[in-house]
Amino acid sequence: MSEYTAKRKASHILYRRKHPPVKSVIIPAIREHNGLYAMMVRLRWVCPQCDKPRGERFDTLSYDGSRRLGVHGWRNACGHVDKYDCVRQEARENGLN
Ligand SMILES: [Zn+2]
Repeated sequence: MSEYTAKRKASHILYRRKHPPVKSVIIPAIREHNGLYAMMVRLRWVCPQCDKPRGERFDTLSYDGSRRLGVHGWRNACGHVDKYDCVRQEARENGLN
């Protein structure tokens, strides 16, 4: 790798750290969603605990104890679990929604 390429790559990694990709996901709007209350939010696609990339979105069902609701889920490779309660809080505060 040339020095130029190495520098470009390093600056790209730094840029990515400062400006992580943003993704839209559908999550339950409240814990007891009654099978109805979903919302779409924009999130920086990095784990809030360790800053590593979040996992791929997939379609899943959230069960609130009585009804199912179609939402997105993801599994982070770092092992930290994003709880919907925390994700709602993050979405309120991240300046993207
Ligand atoms: Zn993590």
